[in-house]
Amino acid sequence: AARLSSGAGGEAEAADRGGAMLRHLARKLRASGPVTVAEYMREALTNPGQGYYTRRGGVGESGDFITSPEISQVFGELIGIWYISEWMAMGKPNTFQLVELGPGRGTLTDDILRVFSQLASVLCKCDVSVHLVEVSPKLSEIQAVMLTGGKVQPNPEDKSAYMKGVSKTGIPIFWYRDIQDVPPGYSFYLAHEFFDALPIHKFQRTEKGWREVLVDIDPEVPDQLRFVLSPSRTPATQNFIQPEETRDHVEVCPEAGVIVQRLASRIEKDGGAALVADYGHDGTKTDTFRGFRNHKLHDVLSAPGTADLTADVDFSYLRKMAQGRTATLGPIKQREFLKNMGIDLRLQMLLQNSGDTATREQLLHSYDMLMNPEKMGDCFNFFALLPHHRLLHPDKKDKPESPKSPLPPVAGFNELLIK
Ligand code: SAH
Repeated sequence: AARLSSGAGGEAEAADRGGAMLRHLARKLRASGPVTVAEYMREALTNPGQGYYTRRGGVGESGDFITSPEISQVFGELIGIWYISEWMAMGKPNTFQLVELGPGRGTLTDDILRVFSQLASVLCKCDVSVHLVEVSPKLSEIQAVMLTGGKVQPNPEDKSAYMKGVSKTGIPIFWYRDIQDVPPGYSFYLAHEFFDALPIHKFQRTEKGWREVLVDIDPEVPDQLRFVLSPSRTPATQNFIQPEETRDHVEVCPEAGVIVQRLASRIEKDGGAALVADYGHDGTKTDTFRGFRNHKLHDVLSAPGTADLTADVDFSYLRKMAQGRTATLGPIKQREFLKNMGIDLRLQMLLQNSGDTATREQLLHSYDMLMNPEKMGDCFNFFALLPHHRLLHPDKKDKPESPKSPLPPVAGFNELLIK
């Protein structure tokens, strides 16, 4: 529902690559049997030679799907305000890293950095750096142009960051393939439409118990893929299905779990916060695996590598994987989060400052895309990890005689209060 219609991509190139990836997968399946949906998704999306994100990475109007930061600058601006408001609530530490997972075209970070620059007097002595976790060489190039005007250098002497540069606003930026490579330190993490792109396992309840859904080659039709069920339980069925599960079909994304564990332990140790925004549910949905190409639904098993494959994020699983190391907030609907962050006021300001009708119409249209419950307002959610002490009432945290004022509520999940 969130993806816009229209737009066109390199169809001939895509068809070509779809063929190459399919042949590669068919060879593998013939040689060693069916693979898990997670393995299939990983190959299709991030295979170093032919993966969808590696080669095509179609975020944006001319690609395969459009995301909130690509729809409106206001989205990134309000997220920028969220980080500043949390930085203030946490006592204005003198340095922080902004770490974005899966930055797409770099638009969201660009909008956030513009806010940081406009509010430089508030952030004055704070030493800020940006750390982008991106597997796609193609998208990292696009991010480099967006954020630095193309002034980047490969970073061979430092094995962890593969590229570095300086933002248009003078902030150092580093690129990594894995969150583990990002240096430790007080950090604000951001994952927008990132977790939905990570590989999922799928399970089906049958009369004989839980079985894992696998991808195999169709013996009747050459080079066509099909879903099959594992003949017996797989290691994943044992590990990921809870005995009290009531659904008949379940999707689990262990990679998301590992990343949330890492974020939670980093925040517990070094401080900061994480903001996750994505479409998803709280452990209630069943089959959400789907593909997008040229803004249209696409059969997940056809022409792998040419379409975005995605599944709804299970926020209840993310909450569980934080393992109590941090507090969690949400999921809260996007329209409520943005309303709490002051989107209405920001829209009014932009409307007042725009002279021409076309810009005003565009502003109203993009507001509707982000906020309308039938569009992105209800299906997208915000979820946060915060150190426990951020939410503790000062009575419990400090000695009774401490004169500290109460902690401000967390913006977005409550109304934004600016002193
Ligand atoms: N956040 C952006 C883009 C979302 S698309 C936006 O909202 O517009 C998903 C992004 O995650 C892409 O940048 C893709 O290349 C990246 N990505 C996908 N799998 C990844 C992985 N395993 N590690 C790091 N980045 C990944």
